[in-house]
Amino acid sequence: MLLFEQITELRSYLASKRFKSQIGLVPTMGALHCGHVSLIQAAIAQTDTVVVSIFVNPLQFTPTEDLQKYPRQLQQDLRLCEQLGVEVIFTPTVEEMGIIGDTESQSVTTTVVPPVTMTSGLCGRFRPGHFIGVATIVTKLLQIVQPHRAYFGQKDAQQLAIIRRLVADLNLAVEIVGCPIVREKSGLALSSRNQYLSATEKQQAAVIYRSLQQAARAFKQRENRVEALIDLVKQELATVPPIKIQYVELVDPQTLQPLDRVKEKGLLAVAAYLGSTRLIDNIVLNQHQPIIAIDGPAGAGKSTVTRRVAEQLGLLYLDTGAMYRAVTWLVMQAKIPIEDQAKIGDLIKEVQLDLIPADSPELPTKVLINGQDVTQAIRTPEVTSQVSAIAAQAAVRQELVRLQKYFGARGGVIAEGRDIGTNVFPDAELKIFLTATVAERARRRTQDLKNLGHQSVDIEQLAQEIQKRDEQDSNRVIAPLKKADDAIEIITDGLTIEQVTQQIIDLYWRRKAEGRGKGTQN
Ligand code: AMP
Repeated sequence: MLLFEQITELRSYLASKRFKSQIGLVPTMGALHCGHVSLIQAAIAQTDTVVVSIFVNPLQFTPTEDLQKYPRQLQQDLRLCEQLGVEVIFTPTVEEMGIIGDTESQSVTTTVVPPVTMTSGLCGRFRPGHFIGVATIVTKLLQIVQPHRAYFGQKDAQQLAIIRRLVADLNLAVEIVGCPIVREKSGLALSSRNQYLSATEKQQAAVIYRSLQQAARAFKQRENRVEALIDLVKQELATVPPIKIQYVELVDPQTLQPLDRVKEKGLLAVAAYLGSTRLIDNIVLNQHQPIIAIDGPAGAGKSTVTRRVAEQLGLLYLDTGAMYRAVTWLVMQAKIPIEDQAKIGDLIKEVQLDLIPADSPELPTKVLINGQDVTQAIRTPEVTSQVSAIAAQAAVRQELVRLQKYFGARGGVIAEGRDIGTNVFPDAELKIFLTATVAERARRRTQDLKNLGHQSVDIEQLAQEIQKRDEQDSNRVIAPLKKADDAIEIITDGLTIEQVTQQIIDLYWRRKAEGRGKGTQN
């Protein structure tokens, strides 16, 4: 890894690279966390030479803000970048970046002023000069590095929208890549400023994401009046009194203009204080919600990855397994013999099944059957022992596939199984076929069994069983395992769960960008 402080030296290093390789830039202010890591990983996956800049930009702090106490931990940041495989770090001094004075005192040299329409609302209203500071430094960094692609987080949605506009307006030859918000398990968006929070405050701060989710849920159930959606956020925030709201706004995600109703897309953004720490978060409400279908053989890691992608993209994890379990539970409650297919068929025609996203990816999707919460009840060994027999019944499958399609029609879902892309959602925006070699799946299964305390596991025998199960799954009459023609295959041998999750998220964003290029609505 190379470290540059001087612009001229960085430029001459990159000059030799420019024509042979794609350059990616990740601008940061340091105190790196997993949010930054996701940007760096995206850059490493998509470009050849990655430059991470670490620069606490004085221009974007207003005089009353935390410039002096902003966390600085360069050595730690460098170690992290080295581990991630970053090629170049750029850590200029304030003087090297040519900054004298601040935007308030007007003693800086040339500045870049974004359209007032984009800076007068949201954070801009409370941070005068902030986006001039951001736009000026980002323009300078783009000029210095001249990357093919530059990576920014959706966490700072106003900043991202302004930078996209800046690049378009100034005809800069760079592709801006937006990356999804990375959160803690509690839902709290990662931020360098979270270091200021105590453990209790961190728990309290999780209400911000919960409040956004409340509105997102109402939006999915067809509430599109901005006032009503904002009220829902405020009500939820009010349940944690130490949180002091600075603003809750719902605007057009591109122009940042206020909306009355969300017709297609809306950016719902919050800024709040917890003590003296200012926290921001947002969520994009989108009428056109995508469907992601993930199929593949048993043991390829589908459910873990699906859960994580769902969380990161704000989609409902359509837990089809839980749906079959819920029906099994109902059949057992009604004391209907498993063989009585006719009675089971009648029972399930009447059934009301609801799935509600969990508050955290570690928790299972909430399952309600006929209004009763059975999230826990469907996980007992008794249900487990009966679920395959029930799921094999044609009437049950038919009804549940119908329900799954109904959930899909509302949009914003990700589902995994054997025939999701081929049968349940043949029109899904993104189809993935997640697989791993038999040897790798046998190895993982052995590891799982050992972790559960089984000492003598015959890996050869396991491999044969997996092979046999694959053949059965591929040849069965109902819902055979099959890769859809338009599915993208990911072989997970040698990849971590994080890497697979990231690959799917990258594919998703790329698909969306291609869609935008073709002028489609998403
Ligand atoms: P900062 O160091 O705070 O200026 O952030 C550098 C980049 O990381 C910006 O593009 C941020 O939007 C992005 N970023 C910060 N936090 C997160 C997060 N939790 N998830 C995704 N990106 C983030």
